[in-house]
Amino acid sequence: MKLNIKDKFTAALPADPILENTRRQVSKACFSYVLPKQTAKPELLHASPEMLKNLGLSEADSKSEAFLNVFTGNKVLNDTTPYAMCYGGHQFGNWAGQLGDGRAINLFEVEHDTKNWALQLKGAGETPYSRTADGLAVLRSSIREYLCSEAMHHLGVPTTRALSLALSGDRVLRDMMYDGNSAYEKGAIVCRTAESFLRFGNYQIFAARQDNETLKTLVDYTIKHHFSHLGEPSKTTYIKFFKEVSNRTLDMIIHWQRVGFVHGVMNTDNMSILGLTIDYGPYGWLEGYEYGWTPNTTDRQHKRYRYGNQPNIGLWNLLQLANAIYPLVEDAEPLEAILNQYKTDFDKKLLNMMRSKLGFQIEDENDQKLIHELEDILHQTETDMTIFFRNLSDFKIENASEGLGVIHDAFYKSDEVVGNIEKRWNDWFQNYAERLKKETISDEERKEGMNTVNPKYVLRNYMAQLAIDDADKGDYKLIDELFKMLKKPYDEQPEYQKWFAKRPDWARHKVGCSMLSCSS
Ligand code: AMP
Ligand code: MG
Repeated sequence: MKLNIKDKFTAALPADPILENTRRQVSKACFSYVLPKQTAKPELLHASPEMLKNLGLSEADSKSEAFLNVFTGNKVLNDTTPYAMCYGGHQFGNWAGQLGDGRAINLFEVEHDTKNWALQLKGAGETPYSRTADGLAVLRSSIREYLCSEAMHHLGVPTTRALSLALSGDRVLRDMMYDGNSAYEKGAIVCRTAESFLRFGNYQIFAARQDNETLKTLVDYTIKHHFSHLGEPSKTTYIKFFKEVSNRTLDMIIHWQRVGFVHGVMNTDNMSILGLTIDYGPYGWLEGYEYGWTPNTTDRQHKRYRYGNQPNIGLWNLLQLANAIYPLVEDAEPLEAILNQYKTDFDKKLLNMMRSKLGFQIEDENDQKLIHELEDILHQTETDMTIFFRNLSDFKIENASEGLGVIHDAFYKSDEVVGNIEKRWNDWFQNYAERLKKETISDEERKEGMNTVNPKYVLRNYMAQLAIDDADKGDYKLIDELFKMLKKPYDEQPEYQKWFAKRPDWARHKVGCSMLSCSS
């Protein structure tokens, strides 16, 4: 196994001088050195062929003893110095102070094909930032992160990636629903990868401690290594940097809205500075199209991180980042202007995204109204988002009266689509047909275009749960099947047709399917 190893992060940034693995507040440092825990009986369950290639590794490498040992933390490669990052964050709207990599240990960076990858083990044991927890991860949440992050990549959504999924062989105690019923579960380790794992919280922690010197060091580092096209660090560059983070964050969230992904815990420590989807916890996929839906039971009361609120939360989080870098800019006006621009862009980009889902290439002034009416009817009865938009591409302008039939499979309770609701649907399809007549492309061309933005296959909550249930019994075939299918989410893939189906009834209220906690 040969890797082109780099250590840019640790070489350039201040380290915590304390080397013991004790829980503590760490000041004036971006990270602490820490070694991963030895595991009882590591076993590799899956490796991503695409990520292997990105790192310059072969399939044979992934089957080696060295691979297993390095990516479960049992062997530290020579000349590498694993570390945990220091960051803070706002959790559910409140400043939570120091958080940090409590169960993530960065191994090293790899440069390959002009790309830089940071590699990090999730669940490899405690760190100085573990606070009251154990630094471990269970199999169910590891399968969810492994499958979903690779699936998101293939959907075209910016995201951290995953290299490998392994069992640790250790048992991990978890109270899954926080109801006093703790049980042992299988421990697992995901090796995840990204150009960088820096989060909004990495900057916030220094601002909160009035440590402007380390703040500047870290922002300058970020610009030099990840935003070098913006030029040398200066006040103007910091503003451009914030502008780009704002754009990337919004673009990522528009993608989430497009595919029906609900992150579930958009705390500022879970917001990547590169605009990548990061920290797959109690995330979920919309089944019924519902603005108010959140998969996260911890958020059930206020639903702060519900589907329809994600773009607003992105803005709220960016405001916290603006506050954090303000000491370097010392001028609120340009930062406020960028935040205001986010609001304008948000409306425009959301509208254009919805246009693409409906197959519109040109812009019409009445599109907003047509889309609002659609969203309103979609909320009247439970309607499967993925099936609705995928099947909509079969709509024919000349057969507007058959529109309802085209998307009928998307209804969970089709007997509710009667009376006024049925009339509204039929009216909407008439208006949709009229609107489509303004386009110049054929039905067939429109279908082709729509099928590149409306996925046929997403990692439905119950699908991940089925893979988890099998894996718990030692059967990993479904992990591989879903992994392969989700590589081509926009393709018809008739061999996987059974996964193009509504959530089965048994999954409606099942833990892990519709309800997820942060316990992982
Ligand atoms: P998150 O679930 O990503 O919002 O995590 C919030 C904070 O809790 C982060 O600092 C995590 O590193 C930390 N954390 C979550 N789970 C564990 C765990 N099992 N052991 C140690 N730290 C954890
Ligand atoms: Mg997190």
